[in-house]
Amino acid sequence: MKEESGSDRIGIIGGGMGSISAAIHLIKNGFNVTIYEKNKNLGGRANIIEENGFRFDVGPSLLNYPWVFEELFEAAGENLNDHLDLIKIETGVKFLWDDGETFSVTSDYPSLSEEVSRLENSNINGLQSFLKINSIRYKIAFEKLLNTNLNNPFKWGARLGLRELSSGSMFKSMYSDLNKHFKSKYIKEAFGSYAMYLGGSPYKIPGFFSILPYGEIAYGLWMPKGGIYSLIEKLESLLIKNNVSIKKNYEISEIVVNQKNEVKGVINNNGNFHPHKFVISNVDLATTHEKLIKKKYAQDFEKVQMTPSVMTFYWGIKKETKFPHHMIFLPNDYKSCFEDLFYNKEFSEDMPFYTSSPSTSDSSLSPKGKSTMFVLVPLPITEKNNQENIYSKDINKIRDKILKKFNKHNIDLSKKDIEFEKVLTPDEWKNKFGLYKTSAFGSSHNLFNIGPFRHRNKSSNIEGLYFVGASTNPGTGLPMVTISGKLVSERIKSDIS
Ligand SMILES: Cc1cc2nc3c(=O)[nH]c(=O)nc-3n(C[C@H](O)[C@H](O)[C@H](O)COP(=O)(O)OP(=O)(O)OC[C@H]3O[C@@H](n4cnc5c(N)ncnc54)[C@H](O)[C@@H]3O)c2cc1C
Repeated sequence: MKEESGSDRIGIIGGGMGSISAAIHLIKNGFNVTIYEKNKNLGGRANIIEENGFRFDVGPSLLNYPWVFEELFEAAGENLNDHLDLIKIETGVKFLWDDGETFSVTSDYPSLSEEVSRLENSNINGLQSFLKINSIRYKIAFEKLLNTNLNNPFKWGARLGLRELSSGSMFKSMYSDLNKHFKSKYIKEAFGSYAMYLGGSPYKIPGFFSILPYGEIAYGLWMPKGGIYSLIEKLESLLIKNNVSIKKNYEISEIVVNQKNEVKGVINNNGNFHPHKFVISNVDLATTHEKLIKKKYAQDFEKVQMTPSVMTFYWGIKKETKFPHHMIFLPNDYKSCFEDLFYNKEFSEDMPFYTSSPSTSDSSLSPKGKSTMFVLVPLPITEKNNQENIYSKDINKIRDKILKKFNKHNIDLSKKDIEFEKVLTPDEWKNKFGLYKTSAFGSSHNLFNIGPFRHRNKSSNIEGLYFVGASTNPGTGLPMVTISGKLVSERIKSDIS
């Protein structure tokens, strides 16, 4: 085993958004940092495919809560607006159903209230009460719950406040929460569908998470010019400017721990040992425990509920299209499709899916006269981590269903229009980024897996080992893992002071 120097540096395994954010906050606090990334790019799931003049974001396609990223640039002593041009996606998200109904959710209040009034028999009282209660919850979430390392359930409950505790928003479902404000099944289904990314059905995920659709309405949807990956590129240049050492194509195979249960460093798959007093794993938490930590220290994630898997399509289109930037196609049998996805682990024949057409908002993402489209189809995860996902074989079947649905909705896109195609199957997602049971967004956010009940960002049995990213606190999505980077750096700072 060859020993490399650098024990004074903090070693971060993985170079996803959580890692990048942790590195920025750590250097601000005077630490030296080395990032070890197994792939050729930083960014993790927020990655890039560039082919034939088309530029595709691999995972995240929408940026919400832009102030979280502004704060990250500020932590690096920079101004986000000097580095990125954030485009506001004025059209928001268009939801579509097979019976021809649609619902466009935007942050433009007059258009939104017109849409709600159309679906709610000229009544917008429900929209107003929905926005009011969720603006309060949003404040509680970001000012009192998410932005700090909270381990104590009582302190967490106290910060949540009597009003939320007594309203039962953490115990009642998102759907029943939405029911209080809206009569229209279309509005409830659209807002409730955000539960999918949280890893559960809107009939089970806590009602407090109505702050998700609220957050998009209140703060808008954004995309940096050049796509989401431009954010990663700019942040990488800030890491380099601040002397963060970045090792790419560098896969870590083990976190080394001594007899006193202290972390000693990491070993890569060529056997090189890098000593570190502190190691942070940005690798999906369950994978970290299963693959990188010795069995006697590892926790079992077998029973932890995970978010779904995905199949994603990247299409370079021969013609210029102006489809709405974000569309979500919802199924006829909404409730049973969620049951199938999460609990029966079956493929729902009338599958819901999401499309993003980023070249509608930024023509630089495709050659002149052409366009790009990204399609995300949620699929069941595997029962065990060592199994293949049976839906990885269904590329043709799934592509046909998507195109058929377009046809039904008079969306003018067929197979002959697709000049370039790349597909990532659930197993490819798993193998490329180390995702447990092919789960695309990490562990889910049911009541027993949020706040102080979610897996902590610090190992309970290995001194000096920490975690960052989607499966730890506060949760999944780019803004949350960015906050997670800040939290882990604060945790380390407070542990050594
Ligand atoms: C299809 C899809 C769409 C999404 N859409 C959105 C969206 O629109 N908006 C949004 O905010 N969020 C979205 N998300 C969620 C968001 O992408 C994730 O929550 C976030 O990127 C996770 O970041 P992370 O730092 O936790 O981990 P990751 O991005 O997974 O980073 C972990 C890194 O560790 C590396 N790694 C793994 N094993 C090793 C090893 N042994 N050695 C070294 N390196 C290793 C991986 O290669 C990876 O780079 C989406 C996710 C997916 C999959």
